[in-house]
Amino acid sequence: MLLCISTGAVWRCCESRLAAVHLIEEKFGGLIDGVELCFINASKFWGFELDERAIRFLRSKRFVSLHAPCSGIEYGDNRKTRRAFGKIREINKAVALQHVTFHPNHVRDFGALKRLGLRCLVENLSGDEKRKGWQFPQELKRFLEKERWLGFCYDVNHGMSNGVEPKEFLKNLGSRIECIHLNATEKTGEAQHHLLVQSSNAVVEKIRPVLALGKPLVIEPRLQKEELPLIGKEIEFVRKTAESIVL
Ligand SMILES: [Zn+2]
Repeated sequence: MLLCISTGAVWRCCESRLAAVHLIEEKFGGLIDGVELCFINASKFWGFELDERAIRFLRSKRFVSLHAPCSGIEYGDNRKTRRAFGKIREINKAVALQHVTFHPNHVRDFGALKRLGLRCLVENLSGDEKRKGWQFPQELKRFLEKERWLGFCYDVNHGMSNGVEPKEFLKNLGSRIECIHLNATEKTGEAQHHLLVQSSNAVVEKIRPVLALGKPLVIEPRLQKEELPLIGKEIEFVRKTAESIVL
């Protein structure tokens, strides 16, 4: 299995996006198979530069992906998109990205993503007005049947926050899933970004089949500094739970 951490998991404990990569290396580097470089606000993305230490660490891993910034950019034929793609290509040159994941509600022209020249995935979103059309398995299935060249990143927490159980996503989109954003929600209506190790047995049981897909699992909670040791526990818990399925 490929068990990875999103840099977004440790943002609250770090002064910069680069510091998040260093912190992951320092605390969990030996326990994980990869990293997702996560960006939300474009403003944080423009100033991001990898240093030699981060490049060395990321190159030593089997999996590196990038979550494209989604706030402050509308992807299409425009200057900001070209600037962002230039920067993503630079990062790709340094660390060889497996794929780039987009929030589809910030893409005006999906054809423009082809110009990136890298594998592109879209992610299911949690619910509010601006995200309509990108939340439920049926609507995403219809969209991905038209756009066969795109891959799908299944965000478990976003799906569950909309009241959709993992088995529904697996049934409709199982063959299109290329990556999992692994975090959980107990309560419909709120994307809680919980760790599995903090979740009830009932929630873990619902997520269990997702672990058996054999796709990269990106741990993506939002932790405070004092919660950091939980990541070690999460890694152990997910590995154990996934292995118990194989047996
Ligand atoms: Zn996600």
